[in-house]
Amino acid sequence: METRILQPTEEALEEAARLLRGGELVAFPTETVYGLGADALNADAVRRIFAAKNRPADNPLIVHIWDMGQLDALCEPSETALRLMERFWPGPLTVLCRKKAAVPDVVTAGLDTVGMRMPSHPVAREMLRVANVPVAAPSANLSTRPSPTTAAHVLEDMDGRIPLILDGGASDFGVESTVLDASGPVPVILRPGAVTREMVAELVGACEVADSVMRPLAEGEAAPSPGMRHRHYAPKGRLTIYRGSAEAVAEAIRRAYDVEENAVILALEDHLPLYGDRRTLPMGRTLLDAAHHLFASLREADHRGYTRLLAEAVSEEAVGLAVMNRMARAAAFDVEDV
Ligand code: AMP
Ligand code: MG
Repeated sequence: METRILQPTEEALEEAARLLRGGELVAFPTETVYGLGADALNADAVRRIFAAKNRPADNPLIVHIWDMGQLDALCEPSETALRLMERFWPGPLTVLCRKKAAVPDVVTAGLDTVGMRMPSHPVAREMLRVANVPVAAPSANLSTRPSPTTAAHVLEDMDGRIPLILDGGASDFGVESTVLDASGPVPVILRPGAVTREMVAELVGACEVADSVMRPLAEGEAAPSPGMRHRHYAPKGRLTIYRGSAEAVAEAIRRAYDVEENAVILALEDHLPLYGDRRTLPMGRTLLDAAHHLFASLREADHRGYTRLLAEAVSEEAVGLAVMNRMARAAAFDVEDV
């Protein structure tokens, strides 16, 4: 199949809507990463997502809507869930809600909850509005690869596998949405994202973070958020993360770099002078910059053929927790405290 990339003109959005209503797949930009969408109410269409990505069938998808009026047919949000939606939608927050029968089991991988999200990206919103169906969508990468933050990344993984990619430029946040379980008295973050624990706690009084967010799951351990169980976000080269003071980290990274043939350093801009003329990939200045750059830098490292990636840990405060959660998984939890 030929994969077309189109700018999001009115005709392109009409074409996307036609494909979605016809049970085909469309990749589209969101404020987090690019999504790979199908009509959430069409089980055959949703199965195509799993096939195109080589995604394990036990990894549920998020259902995207553009209007609160669509919620009632799909799920039963708790009081807390509704408050969170009112405050953070449209935006990078996925809220788990008890699912209704209209949502096929293939979407939720058999779970009785469905992850609901209303994205804020104007192209995503317009596509959802014109298609007028809820759209199930995971990230538009091949399973295990870093999530795509540009249309070119999507093409790299999906060329020949899907008919259409809508090009909305580079994703704003660059890491996937926060996944939140709001079924109990205290909401629990299962996957950190740009809507942080601090932001949720400020609204509803308290918010916990699942302890599996920053450690590998034990063999056979149930994953609260199934996507956290699988190998994920991995570049082709081997990645190690160094955590500690800026000086200690730079020292350890320089030592590791100098005995490698083909290494690259992922570092915050302010630390670049610590690495002299060694090869680096930029992570920007702030935690938000790091989120924005992370997946693109991992893909860039692949393009340039680096076999060894040495990365500075970032702070786990605020959106930094999302960055470290993705980096630790990309590194298969090879994190060294120095
Ligand atoms: P992706 O967009 O590729 O990050 O995939 C969506 C992710 O959302 C999954 O991998 C899960 O981690 C999470 N998710 C979606 N639905 C549920 C659910 N019902 N329960 C727990 N986690 C979910
Ligand atoms: Mg994904």
